[in-house]
Amino acid sequence: MERISHWIGGKEVAGTSGRTGPVYNPATGEQTHEVDFASVEELDAAVLAAKEAFWGWRSTSLSKRADIFFRLREVLDQRKPELARIVSSQHGKVVSDAAGEVQRGIENVEFATSIPNLLKGGFSEQVSTGIDVFSIRQPLGVVAGITPFNFPAMVPMWMFANAIACGNTFVLKPSEKDPSASLFIAEALKDAGVPDGVFNVVQGDKVAVDAILEHPDVKAVSFVGSTPIARYIYSTGTSHGKRVQALGGAKNHMIVLPDADLDMAADAAVSAGYGSAGERCMAVSVVVAVGGIGDELVGKIGERLPHVRVGAHDEPDAEMGALVTREHRDKVAGYLDSGKEQGATVVRDGREDDVYQRAGFFLGVSLLDHVSTDMDAYRDEIFGPILSVVRVDSYDDAVRLVNENPYGNGVALFTRDGGAARRFQFEVEAGMIGVNVPIPVPVAYYSFGGWKASLFGDNHMYGPEGVAFYTRGKVITERWPDPSTSKVDLGFPRTR
Ligand code: NAD
Repeated sequence: MERISHWIGGKEVAGTSGRTGPVYNPATGEQTHEVDFASVEELDAAVLAAKEAFWGWRSTSLSKRADIFFRLREVLDQRKPELARIVSSQHGKVVSDAAGEVQRGIENVEFATSIPNLLKGGFSEQVSTGIDVFSIRQPLGVVAGITPFNFPAMVPMWMFANAIACGNTFVLKPSEKDPSASLFIAEALKDAGVPDGVFNVVQGDKVAVDAILEHPDVKAVSFVGSTPIARYIYSTGTSHGKRVQALGGAKNHMIVLPDADLDMAADAAVSAGYGSAGERCMAVSVVVAVGGIGDELVGKIGERLPHVRVGAHDEPDAEMGALVTREHRDKVAGYLDSGKEQGATVVRDGREDDVYQRAGFFLGVSLLDHVSTDMDAYRDEIFGPILSVVRVDSYDDAVRLVNENPYGNGVALFTRDGGAARRFQFEVEAGMIGVNVPIPVPVAYYSFGGWKASLFGDNHMYGPEGVAFYTRGKVITERWPDPSTSKVDLGFPRTR
């Protein structure tokens, strides 16, 4: 069985802990690899490599760093098809979807090419006689990223692009479910000219994560994953004195007002509900039908479902692939049973599709109607290809539903009414809002992050907030006095 190991100090390093985990091809259900799980000592070695590389890297000129990022952008762009194939073979999402993920990741590398501009400080001349003040932002040191299975290429790029461009060195702990993308990216960074030790990968589980959270030389931790683990990462990391941004799970609503184009809304619900088999933190999970349009909207969504082509990630016409593991697939399917028991209508049960009988971890597209807020299918983040429809009487009921939900990642409104849209973006409690856009993932030059239980910490990820997260400010007050004017003055420094 092929082993997947660590990347420390610019080369692959085989694991020595004796602990490993299986990696599967979700489309066949077969184990394809064994991934090493790091010990505390192996994590220490990666942090040491990053620490030793830090001073050299932070002293590298901004122009040179920008040069490297331009090269990295080219290397990743050329290797995009290969990276997409690696992602899909371990995640299960179709290759075209994986290519989309890689592209959105590369956009963060593009953003980081402008690091000389992004790190410009402020300057105030003559704040007092002969005194100037200026501000600079400096890197933190060794920073770490802990990433989820569902975007094994894009989410690491959300983190390391800004972190490294700002002058930090980086240790990545990818998901153990689809770890190969991390090593492919490490090689791309090396080929683009990133010095050894600036980017390191440690494969593993809770042992490696806890070692990161407790390591005195790790100055900041970025995390993306489920809410219970995000909460744990935030509280443990901050209690060890680290800066932490921890993005958690989601329950994204798509509100459809009665004036919306219902065909467009149905297309959007199907695309955003079942793309990547619902394994996206920005997937639409709940469609909220407002004011008597429920039957028509459910009809329109339902008539589209038989046409969604489910198949192996590398089947040319497949639009939706398998789920990541058998356990996850079975857990997701369980919501069809609990939904039915708790009073929902099962409009379509994906276990009745042929694809469910395959050896891989497939579940056909599934639809629950008449879902209410007390049902497990509404309360939990399902993270699979089950869309729930909740019916409410009014716009106010719909907004209340979203605002009372513990998560606040993304939300979308479908309407033709500009006034309603303006009111919605003003009063809805979520971090990323779509108006007639079902998956409003911000472009790389804005920042990504939810509210409430979808984010622990103060900074959203990537974009300007990413630069702020990976740097700390310094303000310099400076004068170059004329010695002939020098005198002793015990008064407090004055500006006027
Ligand atoms: P997860 O929380 O199980 O794992 C995320 C990372 O944490 C992995 O690297 C994993 O090895 C590690 N981990 C798991 N259990 C741990 C433990 N007990 N202690 C320490 N570390 C642990 O998440 P996942 O299943 O890989 O990914 C899916 C989740 O990620 C979903 O909840 C999804 O909404 C969320 N997600 C959120 C965003 C966002 O931007 N908000 C983006 C993508 C995914």
